[in-house]
Amino acid sequence: MQVMTPGADAVLVRFGDISTKSPQVRRMMEDRLLANLRWSLQDAAIEAEVTREWARPIILPNDESTIGAATEVAASTIGVVSASPCARVPTTMDSILGAVASLAENGLIDGSFAIRARRADKSLPFTSVELERAAGSTVFESVDDPSSIEVDLEDPDMMIFVEVHESTTYLHTEILQGPGGLPVGTQAPCVSLISGGIDSPVAAYRLMRRGSPVVPVYIDLGPYSGPDHQARAIESIAGIRPYAASAAHDAYVVPGGDFVTELVGSVDRGRMLVLRRFMFRVADRIAEATDAVGIVTGEALGQKSSQTASNLYATSVVADRPIHRPLLTLDKNEITELAKEIGTYQSAKIDAGCPSIAPAQVATKATPTEVDALEPTDIDQYVAAAIDAAEIVDLETIESYRDPPIMTSMSNH
Ligand code: ATP
Ligand code: MG
Repeated sequence: MQVMTPGADAVLVRFGDISTKSPQVRRMMEDRLLANLRWSLQDAAIEAEVTREWARPIILPNDESTIGAATEVAASTIGVVSASPCARVPTTMDSILGAVASLAENGLIDGSFAIRARRADKSLPFTSVELERAAGSTVFESVDDPSSIEVDLEDPDMMIFVEVHESTTYLHTEILQGPGGLPVGTQAPCVSLISGGIDSPVAAYRLMRRGSPVVPVYIDLGPYSGPDHQARAIESIAGIRPYAASAAHDAYVVPGGDFVTELVGSVDRGRMLVLRRFMFRVADRIAEATDAVGIVTGEALGQKSSQTASNLYATSVVADRPIHRPLLTLDKNEITELAKEIGTYQSAKIDAGCPSIAPAQVATKATPTEVDALEPTDIDQYVAAAIDAAEIVDLETIESYRDPPIMTSMSNH
């Protein structure tokens, strides 16, 4: 149920993990969240002030008609647990009851309702229970047909939340759930290997959700790429870019065609492992150049022959930085669900993969030494040449496909 609180002029933003931090860390994380909210609002062309009230971020849009859109922006910003459009009134019994009355007069209360009051300031001349009772009576006095409504404290159709602070009281009836996590930019960045498939953007998103911005890297496989691989990879990158907000990094397209051509001519069994190592080497070099402290991939245990537990070991050893695999333990259908939620599924519907490179016989149980022996001796030169020829993508120039993220309204919680 989408109900806008009449007179809503602000969006209350709640965060989760941030509140468990020490005061200094908390301050740093809050500042980043505010900066990210400002960026996201600007990206959505919503003019608003973003500030703090009662140790929580609050958004004050210049134009009240953008409250709904601003709430949705907040609810899709990483670090936000939930957001509510709210009406602010002075903390007096009269003005609070006046706001409750206008809710009822607007015909918004239909069926069952409940009022939940919370007092942040215990020195007020009324208790939460007194306020709830008075507000309940006001509702019955203000609706056209009191027989059409009833109080249901357990499972009401509409919950009216009244949050009372010393001078200002917030009223709201809606809670939009956000993604949670820690604000992007509160951890050091990691290089994200993005293939244009379903998995890699989800993996990048999961890392961003814990605060680490990603440096997206697509490795172009030259003649062995599918016709629209690069376009899909770039659309995936554009799809996750809004989540990074003010902490986004440039994306790189690295030409890997020369290496793959050499590889297809020289290595059969174990080819995919040498290719994966090439990708890790490239990612590690880009990490070095961008001060990134890890590499993130969409690999999942056993999803493909190159992702057996043995092969993850045999391929990981070439990187100096840790390789993060946030999807390691997920099934494909679970990853697909996540891709739909974050809106990157459309640009990645077809499994990217590299079927035209895969040899007839794949190695499922390689050791690091076995793969060492397969690598061309001049692999470092290939890596260096590919990095030299890498291009930075200007995401602003891309007309990206963006699925709107799924929003759930939880007005009854
Ligand atoms: P995805 O895993 O993104 O759906 P995929 O399943 O087709 O694509 P895999 O063969 O599973 O790709 O590759 C495993 C991981 O290796 C990817 O998740 C991605 O992180 C990385 N990767 C694969 N191909 C490329 C590429 N061309 N450029 C950059 N990274 C890649
Ligand atoms: Mg995959």
